[in-house]
Amino acid sequence: MRPDALNSLFAETQTLEGVGPKLMKPLEKLGLTRVRDLAYHLPERFVTRRAIANLDDAGEGEQVIVALTPTEHRAARNPGRGPYRVLSQDEAGNICALTYFGRASYTAKKQLPVGEKRWVAGRLDRYGDMLQIVHPDHIEKDSAAHLGRLNEPVYRLSEGLTQPRVAGLVGQALERCPELPEWIEPGQFEKAAWPTWRDALHLAHKDAHEQARDRLAYDELLANSLALLLVKAEGRRRKGQALAGDGSLRDKLDLPFEMTGAQKRSIAEIEGGLQQEAPMLRLLQGDVGAGKTVVALAAMLIAVEAGKQAAMLAPTEILARQHFETLRKMAAPTGIEIALLTGRAKGREREGLLMGLLDGSIDILVGTHAIFQETVNYKDLGLVVIDEQHRFGVQQRLALAAKGKRAPHTLAMTATPIPRSLTLAQYGEMDVSRLDELPPGRQSIETLVVAQERIDDVVAGVERHLAKGQQAYWVCPMVRDSEIADIAAAEARYASLKERFGGDVVLVHGQLKPEVKDANMERFASGGAKLLIATTVIEVGVDVPTATLMVIEQAERFGLAQLHQLRGRVGRGSEKSRCLLLRGNELSETGRKRLALMRETQDGFRIAEEDLELRGGGELLGTRQSGEAAFHIANLEQVQKLLPAAHADARLLIDRDGGLTSDRGEAARILLYLFERDWGVQLLRGG
Ligand code: ADP
Ligand code: MG
Repeated sequence: MRPDALNSLFAETQTLEGVGPKLMKPLEKLGLTRVRDLAYHLPERFVTRRAIANLDDAGEGEQVIVALTPTEHRAARNPGRGPYRVLSQDEAGNICALTYFGRASYTAKKQLPVGEKRWVAGRLDRYGDMLQIVHPDHIEKDSAAHLGRLNEPVYRLSEGLTQPRVAGLVGQALERCPELPEWIEPGQFEKAAWPTWRDALHLAHKDAHEQARDRLAYDELLANSLALLLVKAEGRRRKGQALAGDGSLRDKLDLPFEMTGAQKRSIAEIEGGLQQEAPMLRLLQGDVGAGKTVVALAAMLIAVEAGKQAAMLAPTEILARQHFETLRKMAAPTGIEIALLTGRAKGREREGLLMGLLDGSIDILVGTHAIFQETVNYKDLGLVVIDEQHRFGVQQRLALAAKGKRAPHTLAMTATPIPRSLTLAQYGEMDVSRLDELPPGRQSIETLVVAQERIDDVVAGVERHLAKGQQAYWVCPMVRDSEIADIAAAEARYASLKERFGGDVVLVHGQLKPEVKDANMERFASGGAKLLIATTVIEVGVDVPTATLMVIEQAERFGLAQLHQLRGRVGRGSEKSRCLLLRGNELSETGRKRLALMRETQDGFRIAEEDLELRGGGELLGTRQSGEAAFHIANLEQVQKLLPAAHADARLLIDRDGGLTSDRGEAARILLYLFERDWGVQLLRGG
């Protein structure tokens, strides 16, 4: 049970003043459903604004405070598809558009009556020839004095939220934060001279307070290490079973290709792990297309050769079905029984499957979560394979592990290349096998770095490409304070390219209605549209082999792992593919090296390792949008700086007080709940 001390923090956001169902929607989109989440919604950065009288005095991208008088309201011609603009004038007569997307236009109508002067604070941008401020942060009637603090936190927003609104809610959340007992090892706490937990939260929202941020990051790392160590201790308590295959089934496989060296090596490593009595906990890392499926099959065949069953867990129904078909085809000559179980199986069919699992006539089961429901029982489960590890919590893994009479071995697979030094943080003390070699014959993608100034040449190149009947992606970055400002940039790019290429161009971003988005995507996938403009929020989930060119704007702002994933969208067909990385002018030395690395290699591991070397930090582990991030508070730099100490701290505590019963143990339990690593605590109770 959750410690009472945390009750106020885990109260729902609705219990805060002024929060109704309408405001909950955008808050939920950011995951801010409880008071705790708001307290931990740390500012992305702090802005310093400059008050100006004349817009000519400010540069593009600058945060300004300026007096503007609205002259005209312009709704989108096609409601719901374009922005709402309020044309306004400064005192010198310069025109500036105040631009709103979606429902925010209601605010504009109320707050910006034509002919009445208003003080506006926001980021000055350009839309074609026009100056604009997208979703101003503040609009005041009286004077600039009310327009926020000089050093103002900037929070991540979603549609329907404003900076002052979020700041207000965060303030309320902070008031509800109790004092909590200290869980950090006293020596460490003193040496680092950190503030207490509660003070650290207050400080981190006020300004860029490094020690406060570090302390909060350390807490998260400590919680993670503690939970992983508890899981590991639990695993040691349960006995596994050594599985020795005789190769009889693997010999029958009739593959249309020769295994790569990396595949052979990984299979040998897995075989070694399965031969141990201690349950194997191994991670198989390999880029998309590296050939993980056949490695998984070999591992499962070893289990079957040893007289056991194997189960393979996929993140989605579609993937489960795909794996099932692939495995069945590859394993056909072995004569073993492979079955598929998803949430859809009902009645007789389901009964039959459950029987087959129980009497052992099914050797391998492929499926979604459905395969570890309580009603699903195996005769003798020896190995569990989990595809795309990051989508499953450790909790699910434990539920599966509880299935066998003895703890089964686990093989987790992921396509996210993670530097060696970070696997510990992300995956705990797992053994790692790497497919660091792609099967032969893959098309390489020619990658070029081009100055943003040469965009006209790039557009001309796109034109030649489309004229050949091929398709292209154009990616606009997510780099600003809010999704909305990025969408404004993508809209502007779309407008100019549409002018050039006409109806062949479609736009996809997170603010479009789902029907519109799907229809646009579909038009591109079917070849009806030739050029797809997209922000990165949307997952360009389709596989379009005829799309052989990708342009990525302001590529230096992306994480390299993200660039790598994006680039992987092309190079899927038989035609030669290209990727153009547009870079800004103020490219740092590091920025230059990072892009050069992208040009030089397509090896996801090398990219991940060298990126870690090159950049100073500040980026989250994994990508936030895809929900892969292991940590929400700690950034990469903090992981590197603080993880060793946090891990040692956790180990010391577990060694001394494995049941977490001392005062510090009790405090650590609170920490585990605070970071929702309470599966660690639950294990304690179970044992
Ligand atoms: P992923 O690692 O992304 O899961 P898959 O297992 O789906 O990759 O493999 C991608 C493709 O490569 C499949 O069509 C598979 O049959 C093929 N493949 C796997 N290993 C080899 C190999 N050694 N040589 C040639 N093709 C291979
Ligand atoms: Mg795969």
